[in-house]
Formats: sequence, C-alpha cells, structure tokens
Amino acid sequence: MRYSIATVCLSGTLRQKIEAIAAAGFQAIEIFENDLITHNGPASEIRRMTEDYGLEIVTFQPFRDFEGLPEPYRQRAFDRAERKFDLMATLGTDLLMVCSSCHPQALGGIRRAADDFYELGERAAQRNMRIAFEALAWGRHVYDYRDSWEIVRQADHARVGLCLDTFHIFSRGTELQSMLNIPGDRIFLVQVADAPFLSMDHLSWSRHYRCFPGQGELPLEQFMTALSATGYDGPFSLEVFNDQFRAGSPEKTAIDGYRSLVFVNDASEQRDQQVAEPLSAICAPSEIQFIEFALNTTEKQNLAQLLSQLGFVHVASHRKKAVELWRQGRINLLMNLEPESFAQRFHAQHGVSVCAFGLGFAHVDSLLKRAAALNFTPTYGNPEADTHGIAAIAGPGGALLYLVDGAEQPAHWEREFVWHEHTPAAWLSRVDHVAMSMSYEEMLHSALLYRAMFGMQATPSVDVSDPGGLVKSQVMQTTDRAVSFALNSSQAQATVSKQILERYTGTGVNHIALQATDIFAVAEQLQQVGTELMVVPENYYDDLVARFGLSDKQRAQLEKYSILYDEDEQGVYYQLFTRLFAGRFCFELVQRQGYQGFGTPNAQLRATMQAHELRVAC
Ligand code: MG
Repeated sequence: MRYSIATVCLSGTLRQKIEAIAAAGFQAIEIFENDLITHNGPASEIRRMTEDYGLEIVTFQPFRDFEGLPEPYRQRAFDRAERKFDLMATLGTDLLMVCSSCHPQALGGIRRAADDFYELGERAAQRNMRIAFEALAWGRHVYDYRDSWEIVRQADHARVGLCLDTFHIFSRGTELQSMLNIPGDRIFLVQVADAPFLSMDHLSWSRHYRCFPGQGELPLEQFMTALSATGYDGPFSLEVFNDQFRAGSPEKTAIDGYRSLVFVNDASEQRDQQVAEPLSAICAPSEIQFIEFALNTTEKQNLAQLLSQLGFVHVASHRKKAVELWRQGRINLLMNLEPESFAQRFHAQHGVSVCAFGLGFAHVDSLLKRAAALNFTPTYGNPEADTHGIAAIAGPGGALLYLVDGAEQPAHWEREFVWHEHTPAAWLSRVDHVAMSMSYEEMLHSALLYRAMFGMQATPSVDVSDPGGLVKSQVMQTTDRAVSFALNSSQAQATVSKQILERYTGTGVNHIALQATDIFAVAEQLQQVGTELMVVPENYYDDLVARFGLSDKQRAQLEKYSILYDEDEQGVYYQLFTRLFAGRFCFELVQRQGYQGFGTPNAQLRATMQAHELRVAC
C-alpha cells in the first residue's frame, strides 16, 4: 500500500502542491485534470517535477461522462479517451480514473456499460494503460460500488478495474459486506476521505465538506477492515475537496493528510504492516493538570485580582523564573512573566492569552513514540532555562500541550516551585472544559490532533447563533469525559468568535469552565466581593420557567445570581460566566448534577451578551 494524495486536496500552484506533498512524506500523487490544465508548462515538465521529488503519479483523473452513451456521443468519448492516453504517456502514469457518467444522454444498463468498458480496456491495452471505474454518489445510472463492480466484472478485461472511494460509499449508506466478494487485484485504486454526516445533496456535500480521516464522522475503520480482507495492496490515496484546505497552507494541509493516513491505517483491525510500524497505543489524558497564561505586569495584576475573587490562592512561586502558581482544588493556573520565555514570545505575538495546557497521562513514554510517528514532534523547551523536563507538542494555534506524567505530578511542582503557607479555598474543584475560537481549517487540524494522539471523540457539530452570524461548535472529549475542548469557528466577521480571533491574532481561548461544588455559594461570594458577571436578561428566566416548569423560588434564586440553567435526560446543569477579561476570555463556573452536555441551548445567550460586552468596550 502506497500513501498518495490527489492534487485537488491542496491550495497553491501545481509546483507548490507537489513540493508540499513530497515534503509531507507521500510516495505517490494523483494529478487532477484541472491542475494540469491550469499549469503553465508542458505535461513533460509535470512528470519531471514529480520525478525530481520521487513521487509516482498513480492516476490521472477524472475522466467524466464515458459509459452508456448513444452515438455520436459514444465515439466522441472514445476519441477523448485516446487524447487522455497521449497525455498520460507524457505524464508517465498508466491509470485513468473514470467516474460514472452524469451525461444527460447516458443510458442505463449494466451490460451496455460493461461493453463500453471492454472496448475501452482494449484501447487501453494497446497503449499499455489501465482503467479504474468509480461509482459517483450522484452518477446518473451508476451510483453504487456494487454496480460499478458488476460492470467491471462483466467487462472482464484485465485492463479494467475498480476504484473505491469511501465518500461515495458512506454518503449513500451502502453496506460494506459486498466488498468481501471483490478480489483485491481487481481494485486498481482506493480513494479515502472522511466527512461530517450532513443532510444535503451528495454533490455539494462532497465538493465542500470532505475532510481527512479522523476529522469527520464516517466509520472508516470498518472500510479499512473490509479492504484488508480483499487483499488489496495498491495506492491508498486521499481525495478531499474542502473549501478550507483550498484556502489554507498547502504544507500544513499535506502534513495533516499524511498523518491522517497513518492514523486510519493503524485504526483498522488488520493494518498494513508493510507501510509502517504499528503506532504505540493511544493514551487518553486523565485531566487538564494546568493552564498557563502569558501576560504582562498590568495584566497579571488584573488577572490575579479576578482569580482571588474566584477563590484561587497564589500558592507557590517558581524558584528561578517570574512564574506564579495559583491553585484551587485540582485546578492549577500559572502566570508566566519570565522574559525571553516561550510565554513572553507568545505574548508578544498574541497579547494576554493561554500559552500552554498541561495534560496528565499514565504512559507518557508510549505517547511520545506515537507523537513522533504522527509527526507531532515533541519539544523540551530550552534545556538551560527549562528544568521541568516535560515534553510538549504544539497544540491549536501554537499553544503548547505539555504531556505530563501522571505519577510525576506532585514531583515537578515540588522541584520547580517555592511554596507559601496558604490553604486555598475549594469552591472550585477541577477544570470542566475549555472553549477556543479558531479558524475552521485549524478546527479540522485540532480535531485530528485530539483524535489521533489522544483518542478523543467528537460530539456532532452544532451551529450556534451569534448576533453577528453562525458559529460552528464541536466538542472533542475523552470517552470518560474527564478532558473536553470545545472548538468554535465562524466565517462571519462580526461574531464574538471571530472578533476574539482577531484580538488574539489567531486561535485563542474563549472560556475556561471550572466545576463548582456549590455554585450558589460561590455566586453569593462573588456578589459580596463585587465580581462583574455576565448580565442575563429577565426574558431568559421567563423562558426557563416555561421550558422546565421551575418554581418561583428556583427562578428567583437563578436570577439573583445570573445563573444559567439546562437539563438533559441525565440531569441538570448550572452555568455562571464572568465578564470577558481584556475582551478575550472569561471563566465559566459550572455545576453538573448528572448532566452530560455543555449548555448548548444557552450558547446563543452567552454569545449575545458577550457581543454586547465587546460593543460597549470599544
Ligand atoms: Mg473519488
């Protein structure tokens, strides 16, 4: 199995695409016809470029509207194929990918199509070429891989084989059992793509929402298992049409593409061990062990004041650096003002922000091997200045994700910090989740990172209405729900999500949710010390009463403290938001009583109130 990618997956000129594909580690490439047509140079030059980078061209694609045509269209289709064979000879590839016809004149019938493919096979044989036939999900007569296989089977020509594409199979909900009847050597090409489950026409879904394996919701492990049973050992090629990828960085997209293939090949029950060593086992984080802020002196004073009000205590100071540890329950917040540090470089670029997360793991050693195999290169900071010895990988937006050995947890604090005599209040016990704003491209990258590295699963994405437009929101969480990151992205300029992105000049934290043991007691405390909380309109509470049948007393208590409320089948949820700090992030205090969600029905209210805060602040 050779790892390959179609040029249509990436942005840039054909030369930029080829360079990015080779640099990411692919062995092979599919040349998409439009990339060839728009290339300002002969096909022989494209062949030279790919050869210079050691890339094999596994196919030229797509050849459209071929089968089932009456005359004179049929003859024209064969003439067209001959011209493509000429081109392929110059390119140095022998495989033409033919997708099922959408031609308005195309006629149905398996036998008719099989005859056409037999004749195409004869012509291909004379030119030493081969044909791979793919059933498009929106083909006029052929839209099911079982039919395209039957046509290939009846054509019965050594030069004619099948192309399987995971999007076309899963988007029509076709069963995979029939794949087991297809001999692996009759499959000439496998194209792989993931996608979110959406209710829309197949063509638009395919053209705009395909994504790399691990970024969507298709059960690709099942496909891999069925494919392995056929004995297929040909090219394994990404074919992903995605609006964000076509607008993003070709280098970054190509790297994510390659790691998605490593991940999906490993996820199947019978991985192809010729391609790579098996990845070391997934190890999920057990908790968010610390959150580190990059800030200047004034910002630190202001944040310290807010943290004190929330019940945090400055429990320790770094022995050598300008770093303070503030703690409450199992929540550790670091404030880093150390000059020349990663945090201060991050601050220079993004302003006051979260520059690192510490995630606790039981088996960091195997995680480091997995990170290296997936090209999430671990770093250890500056060996002279950073004595903690904790490895980190780059997380969303370049903030560090420290991989903290769970057993090591007390030791690294003890070693690095001088402790003060304080007993922290414990109104708040642990980090519940962290919500971040990012571009949609970064959201896809992050989803792959959390899933491939840590085995975190995605909740179905939801659209949240913000006064400035729609925000796409998706939560990545561990199966035990101990660690959750909510990822938010919006194309609309005026949304809170997008405004925060602009303030940070990139990905940034929107809110840090902390679990309260008694949210009403904390709220009372916050009111007494005058902490500014997010204002909640009276109408919200009228609606709550109507929706959940709350008593007057319950309503009054919620309204008194600006607490939001939600219920699901498992229980109830209370939420309380501070105002935005520096117009960027806030703290959310939550109390869960069996509730499993993240207060999505209240997200529009939060966005509306935060939009108001940002307007007033400007
Ligand atoms: Mg395809």
